[in-house]
Amino acid sequence: MCAFSVTSRMNGKIRLFQSIHFKIAIVFVLLLLATIEIIGAYFVKQLEQQNVDNFESMVTIQPYISTQLVTELSTDDTETANRSVKNIVADIDNSSISEVLVVDNKGVIRGTSNANDQASIGQRTPKSDIKSVIYANRKKTEITSTRDGSYYTSITPLTNQSTDANQVVGAIYVRASMDTVYRNINQVTVIFLTASLVAGLLGMIIAIFIARAITQPIDEMKKQAIQIADGDYSGQVRIYGHDELGQLAFAVNNLSIRVEEAQEVSDAERRRLDSVLSHMTDGVIATDRRGNVTIINEAAQGFLNTTGDDTIGESILTVLGIEKEYSFRDLLENKRDMVIEPDTQNDEDEQTVSPDHARHLILHVDFSLIQRETGFISGLVCVLHDVTEQEKNERERREFVSNVSHELRTPLTSVRSYIEALSDGAWQDEKLAPQFLTVTQEETDRMIRMINELLALSRLDQGTAKMELEYVNFNEFFNYILDRFDMMLKTDPKQKRYRIEREFTKHDLWVEIDTDKMMQVIDNIMNNAIKYSPDGGVITTRLIESHNNLVVSISDQGLGIPRKDISKVFDRFYRVDKARSRKQGGTGLGLAISKEVVEAHHGRIWVDSAEGRGSTFYISLPYEPYEDGGEWSEEN
Ligand code: ADP
Repeated sequence: MCAFSVTSRMNGKIRLFQSIHFKIAIVFVLLLLATIEIIGAYFVKQLEQQNVDNFESMVTIQPYISTQLVTELSTDDTETANRSVKNIVADIDNSSISEVLVVDNKGVIRGTSNANDQASIGQRTPKSDIKSVIYANRKKTEITSTRDGSYYTSITPLTNQSTDANQVVGAIYVRASMDTVYRNINQVTVIFLTASLVAGLLGMIIAIFIARAITQPIDEMKKQAIQIADGDYSGQVRIYGHDELGQLAFAVNNLSIRVEEAQEVSDAERRRLDSVLSHMTDGVIATDRRGNVTIINEAAQGFLNTTGDDTIGESILTVLGIEKEYSFRDLLENKRDMVIEPDTQNDEDEQTVSPDHARHLILHVDFSLIQRETGFISGLVCVLHDVTEQEKNERERREFVSNVSHELRTPLTSVRSYIEALSDGAWQDEKLAPQFLTVTQEETDRMIRMINELLALSRLDQGTAKMELEYVNFNEFFNYILDRFDMMLKTDPKQKRYRIEREFTKHDLWVEIDTDKMMQVIDNIMNNAIKYSPDGGVITTRLIESHNNLVVSISDQGLGIPRKDISKVFDRFYRVDKARSRKQGGTGLGLAISKEVVEAHHGRIWVDSAEGRGSTFYISLPYEPYEDGGEWSEEN
């Protein structure tokens, strides 16, 4: 979410006013304009001063004229003096001067350049400035701007140098128009402004180019960085030079290569981890610090009968089905391992009768913390180990020991009670004593039989039972066994009645078996068929060949086996009806031994039965048809 917003912000177009490009250009232009303006202002000011100074010196009355005027004003002959003053004033040939006025120290106008105002000569001047200059004997200059234009006014006192006290004899008033001066300055200012405008524009264009030269590599680097962030390492930034930007571009290219290498290493690492996890036989689940599943490998999915999609993000407690017993804190703080039996069977499985299908798992779960160096716990890893087989074996072992003890205790107790009765005097009773002795003998026989069977089972379990294999014509072998059962009927009139039907393949089937052991198996199934059938029942025996297997089946019309017990009749000591079986001398080990023997022959044994409708036991043994001899052909 955060990474997305960063990338999207990076990808977003930058507005012109926000771009470095614009900022550099504007700073450059502003600097340029500020410089031009400061220089311009200083220059114009200087120019103005210069022009005003020049103008002043131009309109200043020459000293010799002043001397002449002083001489004229000092004479007493006013008439002559006035004429001379008129001539002197007329001689002041200066186009800039618009008016010259000569006033004596009494304030009387003695001469004027204004042709229209000659009548004012001899009259007192109305200009108080002139009087104050005469009075103060100090030159006064003034620049005044009116609507008609700017004027320069200078009033200079005329002093008689020859007298001791520098006596003021009058003053000369000069008024000159400054329009030309200011026009010139204005023209220069306009030229200057135009020049600065052009310079500003030129500067702007240059600034844009310079800014572009700086920002283009930055822009390319920005794009490259965005590409790297998106996982595309193919691009390379162009290096324009060996300046700082060039070095930065080089560094970005280097970074891109490094990031790509690091990414490849981490991808390879992740693939390796994935492959290790998926090929592990143990289940592995990892969680985040809140206990939600982040990784679950295939083995764990198989154990828990779930999928990655269903479990990722779920609480580990729910996934393991231990949410009622434990909290996540328990797992973090004190629970390091446990045994669970996940409920992986669905309804279909429960219906299945074969013990192979209903796989009830027992898992050993080991927890370990994922801890950072700082001690911060960032999650939990749990390893699931299938201990079904070990647990089952352990349970079976315990059950077996308890069964053996129980099975032996019953006959031993009864033997002991008979012996006690005998020793208490029953041995003298001619009728009871032989009866008691027969029972003790029968019970002892049964115990011996049971112990022999247990020994046989133990040998089969340990694989120490020697298999004496030989090629046997199974049809003949089966017939031989069944003939013995038919014979029993004839020789023993007390024997329960039955009839054996035989449905065999036409041709003989030759297989490699241990005849003694296989005979024991068939004897046991036949005995059961007789034992659990009513008197006079039909026992149908079949021998067929199917898919490279020889299949023997023995069906009876007896009690049958309840559905719930079918999967258990091959277990050791398992009997559907314990009392009844024991009464008939059963040990509950016959079928267990049969199963071991058949499996030692790489075959299979199973039963098909319905309560009250008889049972059919099947034995299948691997069989390879013998092609060579004519004796196997169908015609036989
Ligand atoms: P047992 O010595 O008790 O006969 P087995 O291992 O031979 O022991 O058989 C186990 C149990 O299977 C028997 O106790 C019986 O309840 C059941 N059983 C075996 N064969 C049959 C059959 N043909 N019909 C009905 N029940 C049978």
